[in-house]
Amino acid sequence: MGSIQEQKIKIAIVGGGIAGLALGAGLAKKSHIDYHIYESVPEYKDVGAGLALHMNAIKAMALIGPEVKQAYFDKALEMGEEDQVMSTEVILAQGPHQGTLVAELGKAKGRKTVSRADLLDGLLELVPKDRITFNKRLESIDSSDSGSTITFKDGSTAQADCILGSDGVHSITRKYILGADHPAAEPVNHEGWQVYRTMVSADFAKQHINPKWTQTVPILLGPRGHVNCIPLNKGTRLSAGVAVRGAKFAEGGKAPDLDPELYKDYSEDAQKIVRMVARDTSASWTAADHDHAETYFRGRVAMFGDAAHASMPFAGNGAAQALEDAAVLDCLFGKLESVEQLEALFSAYDTVRRPRSQAVVDLARKFGRVYAYAEEGMHEDPVKMKQFFGGAAAFTNNADLQKQNDDAVELFEAAVKAAKGGADTGVADTSVEIV
Ligand SMILES: Cc1cc2nc3c(=O)[nH]c(=O)nc-3n(C[C@H](O)[C@H](O)[C@H](O)COP(=O)(O)OP(=O)(O)OC[C@H]3O[C@@H](n4cnc5c(N)ncnc54)[C@H](O)[C@@H]3O)c2cc1C
Repeated sequence: MGSIQEQKIKIAIVGGGIAGLALGAGLAKKSHIDYHIYESVPEYKDVGAGLALHMNAIKAMALIGPEVKQAYFDKALEMGEEDQVMSTEVILAQGPHQGTLVAELGKAKGRKTVSRADLLDGLLELVPKDRITFNKRLESIDSSDSGSTITFKDGSTAQADCILGSDGVHSITRKYILGADHPAAEPVNHEGWQVYRTMVSADFAKQHINPKWTQTVPILLGPRGHVNCIPLNKGTRLSAGVAVRGAKFAEGGKAPDLDPELYKDYSEDAQKIVRMVARDTSASWTAADHDHAETYFRGRVAMFGDAAHASMPFAGNGAAQALEDAAVLDCLFGKLESVEQLEALFSAYDTVRRPRSQAVVDLARKFGRVYAYAEEGMHEDPVKMKQFFGGAAAFTNNADLQKQNDDAVELFEAAVKAAKGGADTGVADTSVEIV
């Protein structure tokens, strides 16, 4: 039997985003694991809008460790006064029910938002400096039972017992697992979503829009796009956007300009935000998500976070799902005793996490249609809309994540036992009910 040092299981994590860093923070506490994170960018920049993390995200961080949850709380902006109850207010901005509040998502005392860059900074502090290398862009994976080699764009390579890809929506790991020609290997913009977005100082915004919307998160709905704002950087900056479904893209993929004239029948508050966004849409982007993968792993290579299940941003739960993945993987790696058990570990992760995370991808698409008045019978009936949002929130936020971890461990231990000659094949019920 080798020394403890020799027995360490070597993991290469590709992608130091929310998922990769959260898992890194958990694995840093596991002495039998030797891991390294490879991140493509030289340093984090403020890409992506602010995140409003829902209850399941907080619960997942707490499962990885109290310090992970604390890192988020240290970086997040309290939206209102201390202990004030706040939420994402979903309001009909057009049509006969204009002004009706149909949902208060993530309603909580002292509700917070965080910019992605701030959250990454907080998580990075929990990862020992010698366990992450920046400027390392994965290009290819070569993996077998005897080990895995990853090759980077700069020509260098790294070896590990297994590869965990948290390399985001355009994941190389995903292409390795599914095959580059697989129809779900790349993200697709099925419904023609274009997100016009601007970043401004809160002071600037207060001169142009209702100041109320610089301190909370509104989503103002209508058929030609939904409008929203997220305060960032402790309330000093604002991300404001208009998400349009069915945009008519020109050849070459260029989206049409955002035209405030099209929003004349929206509420005054919504129109003001549209006009402010239209002044500078340089931070705009085209949204896309992943069709379902039939597996999240192949041999000793697995994917998690957006790499596995990128979703439209409309349900506000992508980062939460990435954190749920990290919580399950972190817990399973805590039980891992040898490299021979890696496939049982990935299989347990896949069984537990794939149905729920893919249900959230579907749910986010549905949110988009509901926001755009494109879901039959919904916007005409605010009560029905309220019921939809209530059901969706219960599905994402109220999930028992301790049970999710326990189910994964149960499956893993049963598979390990079966491999050793025991009979138990695992009985965890991982079915999900899609709202
Ligand atoms: C506008 C917008 C608003 C959102 N709002 C919310 C919200 O309110 N709540 C919520 O829960 N979620 C939200 N999300 C979703 C959330 O941002 C993502 O789900 C989350 O960032 C996924 O984390 P990740 O670590 O899997 O991927 P990412 O954060 O994308 O990280 C992937 C990392 O991998 C690196 N990488 C990529 N390719 C390679 C490579 N080849 N080699 C090495 N490294 C590589 C990237 O540089 C990056 O650092 C929102 C998303 C958007 C776009």
